[in-house]
Amino acid sequence: MSALIINGKELSANIELELSEQAAEIHSRIGRMPSLRVVLVGNNPASEVYVASKTKRARACGLAVEDLRLPEDVTQPDLEISLKALSIDKHVDGILLQLPLPKHLDELSAILSIAPAKDVDGLNPYNQGLLFRGQARLVPCTPLGIIELIKDARRELYRDDNLSGLSATVIGRSSLVGKPVAMLLTQENCTVTLCHSKTENLKAACVHSDIVVAAVGMPKLIKKDFIKTNAVVIDVGINRSADGKLIGDVDFDEVKEKAAAITPVPGGVGPMTIAMLIKNTLIAAGNQ
Ligand code: NAD
Repeated sequence: MSALIINGKELSANIELELSEQAAEIHSRIGRMPSLRVVLVGNNPASEVYVASKTKRARACGLAVEDLRLPEDVTQPDLEISLKALSIDKHVDGILLQLPLPKHLDELSAILSIAPAKDVDGLNPYNQGLLFRGQARLVPCTPLGIIELIKDARRELYRDDNLSGLSATVIGRSSLVGKPVAMLLTQENCTVTLCHSKTENLKAACVHSDIVVAAVGMPKLIKKDFIKTNAVVIDVGINRSADGKLIGDVDFDEVKEKAAAITPVPGGVGPMTIAMLIKNTLIAAGNQ
């Protein structure tokens, strides 16, 4: 039997419809549109594409989105002054610093200049600390989207999205994806195994898990024999194959024959990230 293919495009579109209603409600309550400021340093072509897509979808939900463009050679103090100014601007609810930054800039120091209440990417250590404590406010967008995808799949399969007691393996321990996913799954009462580049037996760490989340950046690392029958498999990886196609960290064609549900690449995790950015901006606006 072939797995349920989890449709991130459809789910994110449905979520964005609900978010549009919330945005309208917040608009009437605070007397202006909820607002997001995107800070873009330099002209990284991939970042330009992401920012255009975030801006379009957030505006479609009723958010006011503006860019702050800074030159490639902006100094660290000037970048931080800009972020601090946005942090105290009453008309700005959410601040997104588009990463990666040019090499001469210190990412952590820049992120620390964003007020935690406006940190819609959830990367400020204050917000990461709250997540670690199980008291999250603003959580990184891709991990939030991953939890939504897992719950959506389990609702579709079992009419129940309670993850309590399930075993989950997360592969990858970045602050952006792997670690926050592991924290969120722990918060959902899963028993979580967190794997990384030094894990000695990846297959053994995955094979008994009800949920597998792969966030590595290695094409087709996860094979059918790593996966328990009827597991839910979330593929975060974005890799380019030799013929230029986007492929994930999971061997999709093999694994879909064994898993209960699986996300495709593209069309799985990717679209959810922007929906969660809009959600976080509305949380920030609602808390102003
Ligand atoms: P990263 O490079 O910061 O982290 C990769 C992690 O993989 C590390 O923790 C490392 O220990 C682990 N790893 C490396 N080799 C391994 C191996 N052989 N076995 C097990 N673990 C191994 O990357 P990231 O920012 O966490 O992103 C991971 C992937 O997800 C990338 O392909 C990235 O493009 C993709 N991504 C997608 C989205 C999206 O919206 N779809 C968002 C963020 C990241």
